[in-house]
Amino acid sequence: MIVAPKIRGFICTTAHPDGCAKHVAEQIAVVTQRGPMTNGPKKVLVIGSSTGYGLSSRIATAFGCGAATMGIFFEKPGEADRCGTAGWYNTAAFEKQAHAAGLYARSFNGDAFSQEMKDQVIAAIKEDLGQVDCVVYSLASPRRTHPQTGEVFKSVLKPIGQSFTNKNLNTTTGVVDDVTLPAAEADDIAQTIAVMGGEDWQMWIDALLQEGLLAEGATTLAYSYIGPEVTWPIYKNGTIGKAKEDLERCQRELDEKLSPLGGKAWVSVNKALVTQASSAIPVVPLYISLLYRVMKPLGTHEDTIEQMDRLFRERLCPGTPQPDEAGRIRVDDWEMAADVQAAVASAWEKVETANLRELGDFDGYQSSFLRLFGFGLEGVDYSADTDTATAVPSLAWFCQPCLV
Ligand code: NAD
Repeated sequence: MIVAPKIRGFICTTAHPDGCAKHVAEQIAVVTQRGPMTNGPKKVLVIGSSTGYGLSSRIATAFGCGAATMGIFFEKPGEADRCGTAGWYNTAAFEKQAHAAGLYARSFNGDAFSQEMKDQVIAAIKEDLGQVDCVVYSLASPRRTHPQTGEVFKSVLKPIGQSFTNKNLNTTTGVVDDVTLPAAEADDIAQTIAVMGGEDWQMWIDALLQEGLLAEGATTLAYSYIGPEVTWPIYKNGTIGKAKEDLERCQRELDEKLSPLGGKAWVSVNKALVTQASSAIPVVPLYISLLYRVMKPLGTHEDTIEQMDRLFRERLCPGTPQPDEAGRIRVDDWEMAADVQAAVASAWEKVETANLRELGDFDGYQSSFLRLFGFGLEGVDYSADTDTATAVPSLAWFCQPCLV
């Protein structure tokens, strides 16, 4: 099938298998070119492993530390005449490259919030790895079904206390206009915390601890964002920010639970980058466009893979996490540098549709967005037929028993 991008608002409903494979290969190359990491984790579970920060965490630990990886995600497989999702094709490509490099890689497609998924993964760890020494929690989801009560929670992106109006970018048309976001009401905050807060992370770690599946010195990580004041009403001080506060509360509790093992729980604050999750947040895509324009010429721009490589290579593996006063790892440090933020703030004041391409990196934003779905990658023939039914190898193998 010949696959072209079909963009609907902030999502692309198609994905290119060869383009996604190239995107993964480029990420692997970033890590391997920097050389192997010493003292890294060897058996890693990544929850939310198919796109964005989770995929890059899986790639950095597999190809940088030589780790065996298990990955969990919620993606749609393709068929001969219908595209699967990008995360499906990313995982298919990741596994093929990992297996070719002699690395164990096994994946699970389904709802990470469910008890069934936890049971399945626990059984697989027992069977294949014995224990894991690192658990990366990188889910971004709009909803969660509670595994015990069956209640469905929905996360919302809303300011708290009062509505918020600011500049916003239409990422398809390049029009800069204003957006007004209504204030959170009723149980919006509680719902968002239930989806994006720490409860499920805690459930995973509790379940792994209970089964004795966390190795001596095991580490667990979850990701957060803080960003500049211009985004605070919608992010840090909004409903999602409350969920991230809950994640930090959970980090402190997990840290205590892991201490008898000599282990550690971390929240890493990462840079604002174009991912499927961040493109859905109002205001943030305009900020990212301006940020890219400032950071690229400075040579400090990083994508998810450079961020995750730096997190493991410079902070976690050598044991120099450099936590801030709240105990968080900050790989958003280059984004938050005073000169970068001053330049972005000044551009923010002036930016409008007419000068977007001068003050912001709109082309860079759009190309990063398309690359998430495997489009615009060098060396990929987009006019050729591609196999949209490509399989994730481990999912195909482990289905074998049910076929016989
Ligand atoms: P993403 O959308 O690229 O990835 C989300 C992952 O979660 C995918 O692998 C998806 O399959 C998986 N997932 C979603 N629901 C699932 C479910 N029910 N069961 C199993 N898997 C499920 O998102 P991202 O931007 O990489 O975000 C990951 C984390 O990083 C989030 O906590 C986010 O807040 C944080 N973060 C993102 C940014 C940014 O700018 N993108 C910055 C800092 C921190």
